[in-house]
Amino acid sequence: MPDSRTLTGGHADSRLDHFHGGVDLRARTPLKVVAPTDGWVERIGTNPAGYGRTLYFRLSDGNTAVFGHLSRYEPELQELVRDSQLVRGTYRVDFVFSDSLTAPRYSAGEVLCYTGSSGRGPAHLHFEIRHGAVQLDPLSFYRPQDNDKPVIAAISWVEYSDDIPLSSGRDLVLSASPRVKSSEPVAFLIRCYDPGPWGRNAVPAAIRVYVNERQVYEDLPSRIDLLCPANIYEKLVYREFRTNDRDVRRLFDWPEKDAESEMDLPLGWIEDFIGVVRIEVEDRNGNTSSVRIALEAGSERRNLRARDSVETPEFVLTGDDVSLSWAELSPQGQEILINNDDFAFPAKLVLTANQPFEQGKYFFKRSGTTGRIPLWRIPGGADETISCYVLRGGTYGVAVDATPPKLVVSGKSGKLTFTLVDEESSIDDGSVKCRVNGQTAIPEFEYEEDGGLIWTQSSLGRGTHRVQFEAANRAGMSKSWDVEVNIP
Ligand SMILES: [Zn+2]
Repeated sequence: MPDSRTLTGGHADSRLDHFHGGVDLRARTPLKVVAPTDGWVERIGTNPAGYGRTLYFRLSDGNTAVFGHLSRYEPELQELVRDSQLVRGTYRVDFVFSDSLTAPRYSAGEVLCYTGSSGRGPAHLHFEIRHGAVQLDPLSFYRPQDNDKPVIAAISWVEYSDDIPLSSGRDLVLSASPRVKSSEPVAFLIRCYDPGPWGRNAVPAAIRVYVNERQVYEDLPSRIDLLCPANIYEKLVYREFRTNDRDVRRLFDWPEKDAESEMDLPLGWIEDFIGVVRIEVEDRNGNTSSVRIALEAGSERRNLRARDSVETPEFVLTGDDVSLSWAELSPQGQEILINNDDFAFPAKLVLTANQPFEQGKYFFKRSGTTGRIPLWRIPGGADETISCYVLRGGTYGVAVDATPPKLVVSGKSGKLTFTLVDEESSIDDGSVKCRVNGQTAIPEFEYEEDGGLIWTQSSLGRGTHRVQFEAANRAGMSKSWDVEVNIP
């Protein structure tokens, strides 16, 4: 573990298509990562995207620590990875040691690997604790001394009749004693975070709601189940934790179906009530903060709208030709704008074309302030319909990839580096092969899809070197290069 105590990302932050299942710790490259307890290596893998170079370590308590975005491994593991890369001729490898007797074993304090910026920069350590397929909040294991109370930054409330729950919260003024009066059932939203030695990005350990001092609700935002991704999207409970604005929002249970027909109000809604609601937040060290709200809630439930119709807009590709590129798509049919402010997430999108999607040609994309992010490849074939879930606002649409990857190789300080980009979809990293002076070399990706150092079996001197490269994008468009590169 690096000695850095600055969290740049918290457990359960909502990311584009998943919840962040660990913490990100700011860490210079390379810092030693040592075995937290005696244990053994379960898995090591290298991946240009996502976790980058990663190591899974089985701890003595049976949980697994996951370290991501590494720069390299301790020498023996590094050699194992390198040998396998050379045999396969690709950067990506993935070892799983299922047997603790033959797996590499380490004692507490021994160096396992080094921090870096592989997969996703800038330099930081992604650190997870898993119990089987459940990602647990690492801070609840490595609990720092913390005498600061969790902070409730804001509380807002919504009425049951609201069509658009996320935007319609009305903020309470927390300095006065807040009062809420409504003829409808009422639910609350909270923004809170846990300050302390790890910075402000930690989520609290527990959020509870009491009505007249009887506990009616508890959430422990520390578990993410990897085997049930559908739970993340379709679960009754929708969570949104953000580190961007340095606080955390918690939305109480929301009705998934038309609750009117079921006549049961889900937990979280308070109806026919006059009294005091107390919302309490607790951190890992037992420090608590709470807010009391004088509440008068009715039960009229007017204007109720079925949520399903909000969640499943139909997106129909019109026109004779669906092979239009993203940029040419017309706002009348080929793209859909989902606004954070007026849409309930997660939203399910269904896209129907008037002819089958061509295999591998199309991508479902999201454009936003961070640029276009290719989400996934459309299966194509006979399928004229695709569906997906989105957690965030933005413009979504179908794009076609029409240009091959672009490569730049340069030489400096006795080394060769490369960048490999694909403008429209993304590089298929399994396709990237490289030879330098006729020998297999490994292009090592440091940042997602952008490239990095080319590792060669023998060190390179000054002068001209022959570099052969081949790569394909995810639309299956491949290209090869045979260039001479000078190392000055
Ligand atoms: Zn991370």
